Amino acid sequence: MKDSIHPKVFNTTIVCTTCGTNWPTESTRQNVRVDICSHCHPFYTGEQRIVDTAGQVDRFMKRLQTSQAQQADAARRRDEKNKPAPKKPSLLKEIYGDEA
Ligand SMILES: [Zn+2]
Repeated sequence: MKDSIHPKVFNTTIVCTTCGTNWPTESTRQNVRVDICSHCHPFYTGEQRIVDTAGQVDRFMKRLQTSQAQQADAARRRDEKNKPAPKKPSLLKEIYGDEA
C-alpha cells in the first residue's frame, strides 16, 4: 500500500433524518445524513403513505374509474359491432323450400 494516496477513513455514523436511525460505519466522510432509509421507506415497510393534501389521489382514482368504465363500454360496443350477422337462408331454400 502506497503512503499518502489513500483517503482518510473515519469511524462515523449514518443518520436518517426522517426516522432517526443510526448506523455506525467507516467512511471517508463524517456525519453522513440520509433523507430516507430502509427502516422508513414505504418500499421496505410495506405501508403506503402518500401525503394527499389537495385530494389528488382521490381525483386520480375517480379518473381511473371513469377511464375503466369507458374502456369496458367501448369493448362491449366493439363486441356487439363485430358479432357475426344472423345467417340468411339460402336462395335455393327460399325458392324451393325445404324439399330441395
Ligand atoms: Zn429512516
